[in-house]
Amino acid sequence: MVSNFEARLERYADAAIHAGLNLQRGQRLMMIGPRLTGGVAPEATPLVRALAATAYRAGSPLVEVLWGDEALQLLRFRDAIPESFAQYSAWLPKALVDHIEGGHALLSIYANDPDLLAGLPADRVSALQQAASRGLQQFSELIGKNSTNWLVVSGAAERWATKVFPEDPPHAATDRLWDAIFRMCRVETSDGVSGWSAHLEALARRCGHLNARHYSTLRYRGGGTNLSVGLPGDHVWVSGRSTSARGVAFAPNMPTEELFTMPHKERADGVVRSSKPLSYGGVTIEDFTLRFVSGRIVEACAATGEAVLRNMIASDDGAARLGELALVPHSSPISQSGRLFYNTLFDENAASHLAVGSAYRFTLQGGERMSDEAFADAGGNRSMIHVDFMIGHETLDIDGVREDGTTEPIMRGGEWACAL
Ligand code: ZN
Ligand code: ZN
Repeated sequence: MVSNFEARLERYADAAIHAGLNLQRGQRLMMIGPRLTGGVAPEATPLVRALAATAYRAGSPLVEVLWGDEALQLLRFRDAIPESFAQYSAWLPKALVDHIEGGHALLSIYANDPDLLAGLPADRVSALQQAASRGLQQFSELIGKNSTNWLVVSGAAERWATKVFPEDPPHAATDRLWDAIFRMCRVETSDGVSGWSAHLEALARRCGHLNARHYSTLRYRGGGTNLSVGLPGDHVWVSGRSTSARGVAFAPNMPTEELFTMPHKERADGVVRSSKPLSYGGVTIEDFTLRFVSGRIVEACAATGEAVLRNMIASDDGAARLGELALVPHSSPISQSGRLFYNTLFDENAASHLAVGSAYRFTLQGGERMSDEAFADAGGNRSMIHVDFMIGHETLDIDGVREDGTTEPIMRGGEWACAL
């Protein structure tokens, strides 16, 4: 008999390979871990093996894994000569680009220690990060364009789990993190593929509905928030689903909860209050309010981390304007967990949110082909940063104002106002 954990892991792997990645018969699969290390931590072994077995059964001719080790990365910081941190792998970027250009599938596994690089010399960490982003630039661009079907999933690892559940001993914290991952990916009870597919389908339906309404403004009210945000005429609501350049439908993030679009960079007015802490630059910013006039933040206060918050929105011209607006019901499992996961996959799906900084081109009709100037004229914000912050809670009401001025409820008490 298989244990409860193995059965759930199996369903999770099924959901990932079929409903998320949609691995095609004949596609090779490459599994890698966090970008910087370029490898999957050994702790993810049971997950990696379950994914590989599922991939072979789906008709993949070859599954490859780039294994890594966080301890190896740490000892480079301890023992390598300081001037060497701008050096990056000569073969890895080329191998990844070849894999993508060959039309094969890619799966990233997140299980890292959020504090791995804490306390290390900042100049070496940033030299390494810059070397990695330079080295992997072509690869990142191919992924950004959805050249092939790709997926990011998570696996519970001890260091990460004890950061999320600090009150528990490591083993219990790891079990709790697995429980949370399985619940958020809808594989707790149903069979994995149908649970995750049904969730993606519901998001897509809601997204189609919002696109059909063509709202010109959203109004937020409740819990210290009283904000109106304009939407560009050609805004597009996006949910978790994408299609690769080769025509394969896939959903690149597990979990995903948000429906998001582009706010007009000059049309936010009023006050918004955060509903969850924001982890930024190694600091936790708590209980903050932002006041907007004509799209620009003119006042920022925080109970803790105010200086970091102010520096963040002063990063550049676009950092004090909005680039994303996303809706997530309060009843969604990430929100209900009430935890900070120190992982964007989870924390950016925790509640309805806004982002200061750059807007996604694909959230505007034809945005990907526009000149920078045309995109800005249409209301698209540009910045070096893009930082999501959570504003959703159980008393937040959101109205949509249509082009003819009529107003209709979108959310009441943090939940969708109409069933679909
Ligand atoms: Zn978002
Ligand atoms: Zn975002």
